[in-house]
Amino acid sequence: MAELTEFQFIDRLLQQQAQQDQPFFAQPHSLGIGDDAAVLPPHPAGEQLVVSTDMLVEGQHYWPTVDPTALGHKVLAVNLSDLAAMGAKPLAFTLSAGLAQIDTTWLQAFLKGLFGLSRRYGCALVGGDTVRVPAGSPQVFSVCIWGSVPIGQALLRGGLQPGDDLWVSGHLGDPAYAVSQHRSDLKLDWPEPRVELGQALMGVAHAAIDISDGLAAEVAHLVKASVQASSISLTATLNWQAIPLGPSLHQAIAAGHLSDQAARIYAANGGDDYELCFSAPQAKRAEIESIAQRLSCPVTRVGQVSGAHPATTAHSVCWRDHHGPLAPDLVQQISSRGYDHFKASS
Ligand code: ADP
Ligand code: MG
Repeated sequence: MAELTEFQFIDRLLQQQAQQDQPFFAQPHSLGIGDDAAVLPPHPAGEQLVVSTDMLVEGQHYWPTVDPTALGHKVLAVNLSDLAAMGAKPLAFTLSAGLAQIDTTWLQAFLKGLFGLSRRYGCALVGGDTVRVPAGSPQVFSVCIWGSVPIGQALLRGGLQPGDDLWVSGHLGDPAYAVSQHRSDLKLDWPEPRVELGQALMGVAHAAIDISDGLAAEVAHLVKASVQASSISLTATLNWQAIPLGPSLHQAIAAGHLSDQAARIYAANGGDDYELCFSAPQAKRAEIESIAQRLSCPVTRVGQVSGAHPATTAHSVCWRDHHGPLAPDLVQQISSRGYDHFKASS
């Protein structure tokens, strides 16, 4: 197994990133890897920067046995997903890596996944840091990513308005189900950030968030941020039957491995979906459907936002099916899991 030093690693990054594919490097005065810091190109008038960072830790966010190409993809994908939720256009990113050793075969595969996605979105790797972690310690990757939005137009969590529909993109639950089965899954390993959808929703959606910690938890975040932003009480009501289940969950139901209810619990509070959840006025339904069709990105209406009803003020997120409110013990199961790294495990 051939191993590289830190500086050989940086040289590999420079060789492998096809700069001609990246709009970043075509712009005046921009500078990527190789100096003490990167230099961003002048910002277009009327635009503002959007910055996000997300870490992946071996054993916590991925298994040591994961395909390194998928890992390279995922390290960037989860960060692009945050930009997508803001409606931002990706610009550039840095990568900090804590590695026990740098194996050339591993690196080749990792960079294939990383640069494949980077090229697809014209989002250039412009710097980072590389450190050795003690032998036996988990690997860790941290990306910092920059994007841009027209000034004042970013999609925020705090924009829910009474009367809005709640929507989700794609389908939910397959990654969480795969994790519970200790299996790999296409969507778990190769999440597709909804970058184009996020940008297309600017000026259409009132609020957005990406679903990394489970739909129920993310909707609660939307409500909390919106109540803080507007000082009015709000309730989000989610329709249990409307949640779009992933194909693995459908298969598991068909094969008798999961009940419909158990499958829906994965979809409602799983995690690692990297879909968008957003709200928009009812008048935008047709426009949203046509955006979804144009982008070949299915969207589903999963609920509504209302001004809080006195009887429901204790719950900012309510669940119902066609019979009425869901049973309290089911609601308990749905709301108890949204991923919190520092919550004591039950
Ligand atoms: P310094 O000691 O000044 O921090 P480094 O030796 O850490 O510089 O890095 C040298 C160059 O390589 C810098 O431009 C840095 O951004 C880049 N670099 C280091 N590690 C990475 C990485 N994991 N991904 C991308 N660029 C990196
Ligand atoms: Mg450094």
